[in-house]
Amino acid sequence: MNGFDLYQYMTTALITHPDCLEHITPPGHPEQVARLEYVLNALEGFDLQREKAPLVADDDILRVHPVAHLNALRDAAPTTGLISLDADTHMSPGSLDAAFRAAGACVKAVDLVMGGQVANAFCAVRPPGHHAEKETPMGFCLLGSIAIAAKYALDHHGLSRVAIVDFDVHHGNGTQDLLEEDARVLFASTHQMPLYPGTGYPHETGAHDNVLNAALPDGAGSAAFRKVMQDQVLPAVDRFSPELLLISAGFDAHKADPLAGLTLVEDDFDWVTRQLCDLADKHCGGRVVSTLEGGYDLDALAASVAAHVQVLKERGA
Ligand SMILES: [Zn+2]
Repeated sequence: MNGFDLYQYMTTALITHPDCLEHITPPGHPEQVARLEYVLNALEGFDLQREKAPLVADDDILRVHPVAHLNALRDAAPTTGLISLDADTHMSPGSLDAAFRAAGACVKAVDLVMGGQVANAFCAVRPPGHHAEKETPMGFCLLGSIAIAAKYALDHHGLSRVAIVDFDVHHGNGTQDLLEEDARVLFASTHQMPLYPGTGYPHETGAHDNVLNAALPDGAGSAAFRKVMQDQVLPAVDRFSPELLLISAGFDAHKADPLAGLTLVEDDFDWVTRQLCDLADKHCGGRVVSTLEGGYDLDALAASVAAHVQVLKERGA
């Protein structure tokens, strides 16, 4: 042992898996393989602790989804070709493993951050997860990855308070459905309204006043986004005083995104990441786990993820 070993070198983990490239969607579908390729290319030059995502354990899924959901996904998974679960949500032969890796990445990120091996973590995965409800895959999502990670942190690591901030342009109806009855979780979402999936009204406040929905109108940009963050989301997280902060990092509020009408730019994702890291520093030793949700303009997605991870990296150093 030399002197250097006495000081733990903290960094940012990047967790991903090649299986996440094997979830194939129909031609022209916005949630496409190229999204993850662009994200990984954008992060290629970053000095990060690179980790392979494990397959999530059934027991970890079953903390939030009933076994019927797991069985239905396994029954639906095709051996060739594509099948449609609804108009937006499809499965190819590689989809189940991709979704299991996406959730597994979030669980592993919790382990790495809680164990002090890294300061924070970003999961570069697909399919996304925040629309998957208890028994309903929807909105490109099969498993509620961030909700699975939250329950894992609570039950496996014995935490008492986990906050999730979801800045994807769509309401995280699935995360809300999976966690709104658990007083140990704060779920706070900013999203455009009206927009898919049609939920996320301010009056949806959870069973324990543990859900915060901040809706933004079509066309809202940096100023409106930062205002609802500063006036509503950040103070709620501050009051909740989480022991771990999870981020559903969707980048489809970007002005270039084809699926929505907000007009954020990369600097807004830099800004919100800094705000969230400040709160994590204040309450939970900087422990942040972020996972990729939406973001469908390939270049805007790549640049936005790079801005987000750059902040995580700076704050984790
Ligand atoms: Zn979205």
